[in-house]
Amino acid sequence: MNVAPEFNERVVLAARPDGLPRESDFKLETVPLPQLAAGEVLVRGIWLSVDPYVRGLIAGVYPHLKRIEIGETLRGGVVGEVLQSRDPAFQLGDIVEGRLGWQRYGILPGSGLRRLDPALAPVSTALGVLGMPGMTAYFGLLDIGEPQAGQTVVVSAAAGAVGSAAGQIARIHGCRVVGIAGGPAKARHVVDDLGFDACIDYKAEPDLLAALRRHCPDRINIYFDNVGGMTWDAATAWMALDGRVVICGSIAEYNASGAPVGPRRLKEFETWRMRMQGFRVGDYMPRYPEARAAMVPWIAEGRLRYCESVSEGLESAPSAFIGLLQGRNLGKQLVRLAPDAHSAVG
Ligand code: NDP
Repeated sequence: MNVAPEFNERVVLAARPDGLPRESDFKLETVPLPQLAAGEVLVRGIWLSVDPYVRGLIAGVYPHLKRIEIGETLRGGVVGEVLQSRDPAFQLGDIVEGRLGWQRYGILPGSGLRRLDPALAPVSTALGVLGMPGMTAYFGLLDIGEPQAGQTVVVSAAAGAVGSAAGQIARIHGCRVVGIAGGPAKARHVVDDLGFDACIDYKAEPDLLAALRRHCPDRINIYFDNVGGMTWDAATAWMALDGRVVICGSIAEYNASGAPVGPRRLKEFETWRMRMQGFRVGDYMPRYPEARAAMVPWIAEGRLRYCESVSEGLESAPSAFIGLLQGRNLGKQLVRLAPDAHSAVG
């Protein structure tokens, strides 16, 4: 058995932010590392995922998820290496993924960990395209969006982890795909590197609805919504008959202090017989292997590309998270906690 380190480092919530979080809302602290109990596994983190939903956990807006309290470790998925195991299913050196949080070392029961096969794909993808964001794109688009070849699909936050995968999966299913992303570099990346048919830089468009009319002359059959707010407003004003709005996320509203205004465009929903449906990716967990079985060959064939933005060291997690809420990331935002012998990061 390997010797466990005596101390751990973790990032805790220091103050509850109002609006966009600041670095002073987070604190890096050193604490003793507890002993392993029977059935538990000690993991040294390599990759940490920072995700938009953590802003909702801090605000306590999810009825089904516990709010993050002051002094509590921030939550997030981690890929790491097993250092010690008191679960016979895991061995020293195994590469695993689990919700270990914003810390250098994490302890979980073996039942909370998934062993990864580094030969299948770089292990960092277990937090991105082959992890929760990729599963969100796959099931949100295919199960809720129900795309058919020839249809027009619009995806917001198209250069992000979920949006980039959702748009490419729609292309694989024969759809015409238009992205919406912030800034010329992102818009170019979405078309040139990810193969979308077009991408609208919403920051350069004074009238997003007019841009959507230009890029989607046959209107929008599926709007995959990652942002809510004004983007939702514009897209839902240009839907086709029987249009479907997939409510994946509403990041434009995550830092809002007051209550968001109610939905508009209800007349359009009536006129165009539209449907709008939200979903939680966790509900699809039993079907994740099905999605990965489809997506791994797409990645190998170069039909599903992914990008990762990497920030260095646990201490950089708060700024990486704040940057994500400001759109500084391209693709999946990761934090490198320790060197990785398995992943090549693009
Ligand atoms: P991304 O990688 O897409 O990063 C977030 C992106 O959102 C930023 O890069 C930025 O892109 C965009 N953004 C930030 N602020 C705003 C704003 N005010 N208005 C418009 N766009 C903004 O994150 P994820 O892929 O991890 O998540 C995307 C969405 O999916 C989120 O809403 C998230 O909550 C949701 N989600 C939902 C799940 C579910 O089960 N339903 C599961 C996982 C994620 P840009 O520069 O282009 O503006």
